[in-house]
Formats: sequence, structure tokens, C-alpha cells
Amino acid sequence: RSVNSTLSSLLSSLAREHGGAPALTLGERTITFSELDSTASLVADALTAAQIQPGDRVAILDKNSIEYFEVLFGAGRAGAVVVGVNYRLCAQEIRTLILDSRPRVLFVSPDLEHLSAELGADLLEGLTIVRLGPDFEIWCQAAAQTAGAWRPDATVAEDDVVLQMYSSGTTGLPKGVMLTHRNLSFTPRMGREFYGMHQETVNLLTSPLFHIGGAGYALTTLGQGGHTILVRDFVASAVLEDIQRHRVTNMFLVPATIDMLIAESKNREYDLSSIALIAYGGAPITIQQLLAAFAAFDCDFMAVYGMTEAAGTVTCLPPSDHELNGERSHLLGSIGKSLPWHEIRIIDPATGLEARSGLVGEVCIRSEQNMAGYWNQPEMTKEALDADGWLHTGDAGYCDGEGYIFLKDRIKDMIISGGENIYSIEVENVLMQHPDVREVAVIGIPHEKWGETVRAMVVPVAGRVVTEVEIVEFCRSSLARYKCPTTVQFIDALPRNASGKLLKRVLRENALEPENPQIVPN
Ligand code: ATP
Ligand code: MG
Repeated sequence: RSVNSTLSSLLSSLAREHGGAPALTLGERTITFSELDSTASLVADALTAAQIQPGDRVAILDKNSIEYFEVLFGAGRAGAVVVGVNYRLCAQEIRTLILDSRPRVLFVSPDLEHLSAELGADLLEGLTIVRLGPDFEIWCQAAAQTAGAWRPDATVAEDDVVLQMYSSGTTGLPKGVMLTHRNLSFTPRMGREFYGMHQETVNLLTSPLFHIGGAGYALTTLGQGGHTILVRDFVASAVLEDIQRHRVTNMFLVPATIDMLIAESKNREYDLSSIALIAYGGAPITIQQLLAAFAAFDCDFMAVYGMTEAAGTVTCLPPSDHELNGERSHLLGSIGKSLPWHEIRIIDPATGLEARSGLVGEVCIRSEQNMAGYWNQPEMTKEALDADGWLHTGDAGYCDGEGYIFLKDRIKDMIISGGENIYSIEVENVLMQHPDVREVAVIGIPHEKWGETVRAMVVPVAGRVVTEVEIVEFCRSSLARYKCPTTVQFIDALPRNASGKLLKRVLRENALEPENPQIVPN
């Protein structure tokens, strides 16, 4: 059980212990823990003065910013529930999200106001809009006059929901995941015990705060009194300059951003010697990507696996398990073992029982980090969180005899051809070894006889010409025949969402009729 069981009490104790230390930096602006604490109180005052009741929703439409944290901690202090809006969604999707969460206040950054303007008169009516920037400061100052409107921690309990965080929408519409103060209170422990963070840590935050990989990860460093450098727009050269300038020690990166940083690091000399640990996760990484990262960054690496529904990280593969050669090198590609405060089981979907080690099933988690449920979705909540408290992740994987977990696929992306399960990741890993393949996604295409058949969507290396037949032949040398693609489609880029995750549902929806159907019999 953690001592600081609400975000508000965590911030209060950080202000007491590390008051004058820098908490957050964006560009030229830095704020200390004391400043963050006092602004959060002003935000709580202002929300209370605006008749926001505990449990009311307060939304924020902004890229990563210092104000994002002021709103998050302030609204949390007032007992409100914060909804982070993904600004990369289109106006219609944002409307759906606002309609679902029904916030009473929307904090919006001036450079994103074109998005809130399109919400429609029906939604804008009764919604208080607070512009971030100077207007936000005035709004906070006005609150100073009602100071004391919120009573410290009187209204907030650790089991209250504080974040309504929408999942990434990789497999369908984003779901409003309700996370409590207690769910989030383990994240600082993760920072201390697994990332080895402390008050001298300088963490660079590239992931968006409206996702758990951003907000949850930020708490790992904040929780130690460490310094977090915010990245508002990801530009690889600017990120590498930030690392150099602030002597950054820690980062969490998704595979797509690792690739961009590696490419840029070859263009110019950057001093990256301050980096101690890079954590990677959020989406499957290939061995090729990992090896390139080892070559580009001279630091420790750690794999992490988690999800919105579990308020962040649930497993990790520590640096000591990153051996390039020898009998433990097969662990590269594993997401590691469960953190000690979770229970993880691989459940065989056919029997509902725990699968034997080595056999693939659904990864299920029982933890105090498990969400309170999906907002407005009792049926989906029941499917995801069973009566015994197990969260069904929708991820397929297996556990080896030592407790290391290997992910195989998302269950929704799994291909079933002629009754055989095919895990797309396995096929993709083989295809990535082809020298002319830059990126690849493998999907299932409906097939009259086999139910589904494998299609590879290939982005070739620039300037290279590779044929469908070559690709299929290449797979046949290392995969069972039923797993090999029957058709290959060449495309310029793969569709990805804000977290850099591959949108296979978009590929499936757009899958064109094959020009030369069934070039090889299954
Ligand atoms: P949605 O649930 O809306 O379809 P999403 O599952 O992508 O979107 P998140 O909660 O942001 O939303 O992501 C969690 C998922 O990301 C996990 O269930 C898993 O599929 C994937 N993931 C996370 N970490 C890793 C990792 N280290 N390796 C492979 N996949 C990962
Ligand atoms: Mg999910």
C-alpha cells in the first residue's frame, strides 16, 4: 500500500520534500514542485467556485504542457475526473468522445481551438471553455479570491476515479477507462524500484499525456522529486537536442519513436552520454529495431508492457536480461515478468483454465492497478474484468517455465486459417529479416475455403524492387506453409495512431481485392 494514496496528497508531500526543485520544463519555462502544488490548489479553488462537484468531468484538449499537469493535479484535488482528449482525432471523433464523457469544463490550448470550435452548438452549450495560456492564468488568479474553497483532501478518497483515459483505439473505438487515485499510486513505486529513479533523475516525456504511456509514466519521475522535460511536438532533432541540453537520464519510447531517433542520431553528432536507461514498449518491437537501438544508444534498456486498463505497466524485462549472445539471448523479445504487485495468468480461452507453460492463451492480470471499469459500458466492463478481478487484456501470449512472458498477437489480430491459429507477429518477424522490407503488417483476409488467409502489407526499403513471389518464397524457408502470406500488397506507409501503433483494422477495412488472387494454394 502506498503512502500517498491520492494525487493530491502525493503532490503535497512532494512540495514539502522537494519544494524548490524543478518539477517540469517545457522549452524555456520551468516550474518547481511548490509552484505546481500552489497552482493545482488554485485550479481546485476555481473549479470548486465554478460549482464543479466531485465526480464531474473536466476535459483537457492540449499537447504536452505544464498546464496539463496543473489541471490534472488541480482537478484531482477538487475531486473532479480528468478526461484527456486526443488532439490527433478528427473533429467528429472528438465530438463522440465529448458526448461520451460530458465534461462541464473544457481546457483548450489556443492552437487547438479549431477542434473545440467544431464540437457543435448542442455540446458547447453549458460547457465552460477555459483557454490555456494567459486566460488560464487570469482564471487561476480570480480563484485566488475564493482561496480555500476546496478543503484539503476532505472530498477525495483513494478509490475515487480521477482519470477517464481513453484507450488508444487500436482495435476499435477508444474506450473510457476509469482510473482511481489508488490505481495510479503504484506508478511512483515502479519508478523507484524498476527504473531506479531518484531526485536527480531527468526524464524526457515524449508520449502524449492523454495516454497512459504519457501521464502514467510522468508519475514515475514526479513521484521521486525528479525533473521531467516535456516534449510538445515530436521532432527527432529537437528531442536529441533536449537530451543533450538537459542531460536527460531516462526515457520511455515506443518503437516508432525509437526508429525516428536512431535515424536522426546518424545525421549529426549529439552528446547522448547522460542517458542511463531507455524503457521501450507500447507496441511490439522487432529484434532488428532492438539491435539498431543498442547500436545507437550506449545505455541500459528495459522492456515494459502495460495498458490503459491496468493504469500502466504490468511487466518488465530488466537490463540484466538484455543479453545479445548466449543461452539467455532468446529473452530479447520477451516482455519480461510480472511486477511483484500484480498476478498474471495465461488463460486458455477454450477451457477458461490456466494454460500450461509454453502454451498460448490470453494474458490476464489481477492487480490493484486494474481499472474501475469502462465509463458507460457495463457490458464491455463485464467482459474485460471478470468476477474474480481478472482483467482480460485481449493479448495472446505464453509464459515460459521461469515466468517470462512472450506476446504473440492481439487476439483480435490473430488469423485463423483452415482451423490453425496464426500469430501475425511471428510472420512479421520473419518478413522483417528480408533485406528489402522496411516495414510490414500481416493481416487476415476472408477466404471462402480457409476462413481467412494471410496477407502481407509490405513497405519496401526505398529504391528497392521486390516481388510478391520473392516475399512468399522467403517466408516458406522459415515458416510452415499455412502461415506464409498467400498475397502481398506493396504500400508506401502503414497506418498508425498517435501512439505509433499499427492500425490493422484500417488495413483490413481497406484491403483491396487481390489483383492476382491466390498466387499460391494454401
Ligand atoms: P484499444 O484498446 O482502444 O484497441 P490499445 O489496446 O492500443 O487500444 P492501450 O491501452 O494504449 O490501447 O495499449 C495497450 C496495448 O498495447 C496492450 O494491450 C498491448 O496489445 C500493446 N502493448 C503494450 N506494451 C506492449 C509491448 N511491450 N509489446 C507489445 N505490445 C504492447
Ligand atoms: Mg486495448
